[in-house]
Amino acid sequence: MVQSSVLGFPRMGALRDLKKANEAYWADKISQADLLAEGKRLRLAHWKIQKDTGVDIIPSNDFAFYDHILDHIQLFNAVPDRYTSQKLSPLDEYFAMGRGHQKGGVDVPSLEMVKWFDSNYHYVKPTLQDNQTFSLAKDPKPVREFLEAKEAGIQTRPVLVGPVTFLALGKADRGSSVDPISLIDKLVPVYVELLKALKAAGADSVQIDEPILVFDLKPEVKNAFKPAYEAIAALGSAGPAITIATYFGDIVHNFDVLPAFANLQGIHVDLARNPEQLEAVIKQLGPKQILSAGVVDGRNIWKNNFAKSIAVLQSAIKALGPDRVVVATSSSLLHTPHTLASEKKLPADVYEWFSFASEKVKEVAILAKAVTDAESVRAELDANAVALKSRTESTRTNDPKVKERQAQVTPEQHDRKSEFDTRYAQQKTHLSLPLFPTTTIGSFPQTSEIRVQRNKFTKGEISEQAYDDFIKKEIDLAIQIQDELGLDVYVHGEPERNDMVQYFGERLQGYVFTTHAWVQSYGSRCVRPPIIVGDISRPAPMTVKESKYAASVSKKPMKGMLTGPVTCLRWSFPRDDVHQSVQCQQLALALRDEVVDLEKNGIFVIQVDEPALREGLPLRKGAERDAYLKWAVDSFKLATAGVEDSTQIHSHFCYSEFQDFFHAIAALDADVLSIENSKSDAKLLKVFIDEAYPRHIGPGVYDIHSPRVPTEAEFKQRIQEMLEYLRPEQLWINPDCGLKTRKWDEVKGALTHMVNAAKYFREQY
Ligand code: GLN
Ligand code: ZN
Repeated sequence: MVQSSVLGFPRMGALRDLKKANEAYWADKISQADLLAEGKRLRLAHWKIQKDTGVDIIPSNDFAFYDHILDHIQLFNAVPDRYTSQKLSPLDEYFAMGRGHQKGGVDVPSLEMVKWFDSNYHYVKPTLQDNQTFSLAKDPKPVREFLEAKEAGIQTRPVLVGPVTFLALGKADRGSSVDPISLIDKLVPVYVELLKALKAAGADSVQIDEPILVFDLKPEVKNAFKPAYEAIAALGSAGPAITIATYFGDIVHNFDVLPAFANLQGIHVDLARNPEQLEAVIKQLGPKQILSAGVVDGRNIWKNNFAKSIAVLQSAIKALGPDRVVVATSSSLLHTPHTLASEKKLPADVYEWFSFASEKVKEVAILAKAVTDAESVRAELDANAVALKSRTESTRTNDPKVKERQAQVTPEQHDRKSEFDTRYAQQKTHLSLPLFPTTTIGSFPQTSEIRVQRNKFTKGEISEQAYDDFIKKEIDLAIQIQDELGLDVYVHGEPERNDMVQYFGERLQGYVFTTHAWVQSYGSRCVRPPIIVGDISRPAPMTVKESKYAASVSKKPMKGMLTGPVTCLRWSFPRDDVHQSVQCQQLALALRDEVVDLEKNGIFVIQVDEPALREGLPLRKGAERDAYLKWAVDSFKLATAGVEDSTQIHSHFCYSEFQDFFHAIAALDADVLSIENSKSDAKLLKVFIDEAYPRHIGPGVYDIHSPRVPTEAEFKQRIQEMLEYLRPEQLWINPDCGLKTRKWDEVKGALTHMVNAAKYFREQY
């Protein structure tokens, strides 16, 4: 019999319950016991959803209060001394590592947090010491939660992050130089002990995640698998049966690692993203090994294509027999919202196209039945076919005008009229820019007053006229403050924007929005990405009204502010029926019209933000990455190249690791780049000299995440350092990113010092 399996379930609950409970605990509004009870309630509720749906293999230990890698740091007693020495309760020590702790005389910053593969989820990086030891925590969480489910009558399969992935994702702590993977022999005995304890508690099987297998691996990392998994397999019947799970890519390039798993029960592969690896993986399996076939996509919100999945499953069953195939989600469902049932405002036609976590759980259960006895789920299969057909044929999905326009895109449309030198000569006179021009990245403080008015407007409590008047007043204020500060290129402050992607999505054809479809980004932070459902076009200008008004009341050049095509794509749920490059080009064409309209309306500096450009980079070097870089860069260029030479195009990136990505950023051909830099070594800017970068750059001179107002001397020092790597006429002076999370007095204080420092250098040259 073909079984069904879920690799992990979202933790937040239907109404972001976990976020609320965590934040209440952090604010001392509920007790530790209350928070623990809420965690238990959520776990039980999530197991029950899966059990009631008829899923055969239900995960446990997929729950985490903050992050599952952080759970493992504590599970293996790999907590740096600066936390253990505080003698906090285990839960507070855990949160201290996740988010820092500044209370009761304790002041420790958090551990580093980074993106989980190519998703928008962030994990806490294992941070290891030269003399690192590992041991199993008392009352280990995976055992505890397994027993908790068992007590509720639900047999689960605990999920662990594998030892190789845990170490390979880690780093040496400050002051240590250990290569984390060299610690494998110290870590594996703890897994062995844990697996024994799980088996003793009644866990017959365990899922061990080794997603690191989708990367290109250094030999040291590859070689770590064999000893680790031989030790684990040696447990024999003293340990549970083990399935190794991989996701977010194919594992074909790492097949030489698979013999390490020869004595384990099975392997899970992501067939939603890489269906083409199926045949090759089947050939690699041992004679009794089970294939966990990840056909239900854990990364998007689209209804599964049952016919397609059934075909994939049947080819696996044909090769392996029904007992050796499990129908599974492609990855944990952590990256999908809780349930579609909460969405009361979606248009009826599109509602049927979606499937969130709770619905995906049903899909695996239905698919498992479908490949055994299709008649038993005939109604579900038919309904699925109807929904998919309605999506394929919908006028929302297909807009012939958009397709026609895409067919007519020419290579010339991607290039500015002239080279940078010619453009800059015109811009300089047109905009009368001084040396070391000062500017900001776009947003000014989003005060509670702004949020209140926006909410009133959304709820229909105030008229459009009243709201517009309010926004105008906010723009007036932003301009008056910029006059006082003496900045050189102004922004309107973005008071009308709720979110840098949603704002544009709401003004474009081809998008829909949800009310409850939150996805965890990190800790208690959730995002609610808009959904691209069809071909994208721009029915009317999106930002011209505000920018034009702002320019009309401003005596310095006003910078128009747009979110770039790649960022709009990456921070939305994309379609799964056309390639992302096609969607990106549609966004680019819509933005191109906006850029040209801004110019026509007297906006001659236009910033197109692409903070998500880098995160879209495919995980492995090679053809897929090269192709991404080509279409991502082309989309930006298509969006921005429609203007005259005298119009200045800016772009902005909020990450400082641009060295390995330098060529892509340079290829954008933006006249001015602003990049996050204040917390990094100015030496990173050396790449601009080494590569003889000809255009202009504003490396952020202060950290906008902190309320702290840097002194004028600090700004001068920072600019001085930058001048070692950049030519004076190349350097812009600006903060790291937008100022929407700051307070006005912080902004005024910091920008006053920033402008003074710029003036000081202007006098020197
Ligand atoms: N223009 C945006 C702002 O200032 C940029 C935000 C971002 O890069 N994340 O808010
Ligand atoms: Zn930014």
